[in-house]
Amino acid sequence: VLVVGCGFAGATVSRVLADAGHDITVLESRPHVGGNAFDRVEAHGILIHEYGPHIFHTNSRRVFSFLSRFTNWRFYEHRVLAQVNGRLLPIPINRTTINALYDLQLDEAGVAAWLDQVREPRDVVRTSADLVLSTVGRELCDLFFRGYTKKQWGLDLEDLSAGVAARIPVRHNDDDRYFTDTLQFMPAEGFTAMFLRMLDHPRIEVHLGQPFTGTADCKGFERLVYTGPIDAYFGYVLGHLPYRSLRFRHEHLPDIERFQPTGTVNYPTSEAYTRITEFKYLTGQRATGTSIVYEYPTDEGSPYYPIPRPENEALYKRYEELAEVEATRGVVFVGRLAQYRYYNMDQVTGMALHEFETLRGDFSHSDTTTTADSPA
Ligand code: FAD
Ligand code: UDP
Repeated sequence: VLVVGCGFAGATVSRVLADAGHDITVLESRPHVGGNAFDRVEAHGILIHEYGPHIFHTNSRRVFSFLSRFTNWRFYEHRVLAQVNGRLLPIPINRTTINALYDLQLDEAGVAAWLDQVREPRDVVRTSADLVLSTVGRELCDLFFRGYTKKQWGLDLEDLSAGVAARIPVRHNDDDRYFTDTLQFMPAEGFTAMFLRMLDHPRIEVHLGQPFTGTADCKGFERLVYTGPIDAYFGYVLGHLPYRSLRFRHEHLPDIERFQPTGTVNYPTSEAYTRITEFKYLTGQRATGTSIVYEYPTDEGSPYYPIPRPENEALYKRYEELAEVEATRGVVFVGRLAQYRYYNMDQVTGMALHEFETLRGDFSHSDTTTTADSPA
């Protein structure tokens, strides 16, 4: 089996197929494993995430137990503050946020009643604007969501599907965790160490710095599992799918123990960057000095985010039809870029485990040799 890409999708599929007795060759264009979750120890000895902060969280026992074969975990619940009106306030918006911002002393029922007064109900919730306005009203929307979203996506809340803002809940209590999932842990020695163990199998061969270039690379393989951008696979024959990218500015501060009060601080109404993350919170590392990363959204550069809005989803659907034809020739598309979905790491792992079940069924019924001869 030829696997293109060595992030969560590629590494998971590779390992489960290798365990089932298949020989795997992985092609990865970057010089490292792990995809966007890649981490490394930088020059000052601090473990950093090269492509921005990655925090593992899931409700899936299945995903968690699969990954637990390759790593121990460190309990970590991420917390984020947003700089608003010159103060640092919890995001997701909770009781503390509202009481601090409006100088109130509401209890949980009071917060619910207060939100009921300010929210602008919608019959149909289609866009992120509909979602935010109907849950927290206009003022909180403008303070916490409008500017951040415009920076992050280059688009207004009105132009993004509701699912984008729906990632951020609204709470009536004091829970200030960024995620609500039942399992929130970081790999004890980092993501890269976990990936290296996952790929450490006699049937897996990884070729780093080797981009997949199309048909010729498929010769001699029974199946192709493709985890890169789906439009690139088809040579952009239907046009480019839009992606949002980021520029990361990494900084090391040698003389201070802590730079900020939580793992991440968001800047919804000021600055060109969206957020600053301080890695020592995420990794639990103790060290003199600290390392941080600023995220500057941009249209140019590597494709990091599919952009969830109806016209993009419609274009993806047309690519998906091409992918269904490829499927009959032994090609599988899985992952955030290959499925053009705003997936988290656990969702990608879950999809990859699911694809494996399909692949396993295929293998037991046929011995097709892939004829993957589409442009790539
Ligand atoms: P990727 O990680 O993108 O891997 C695909 C790989 O394929 C890449 O390494 C790429 O180089 C390679 N590739 C592409 N084309 C080719 C080709 N032609 N030939 C060879 N190789 C190719 N998720 C969370 O759960 N929690 C978080 O806190 C979180 N934070 C994030 C923060 C940022 C800034 C970003 C951008 C994403 C974050 N995510 C987070 C999402 C997470 O990164 C993805 O869900 C996950 O990495 C997707 O895995 P993947 O294998 O589908 O894709
Ligand atoms: N968001 C926002 N303000 C915030 C945090 C998030 O407006 O302080 C919106 C924004 O549109 C963002 C989306 O919610 O892109 C999802 O946020 P998340 O933190 O999940 O983004 P990611 O970590 O995937 O970049």
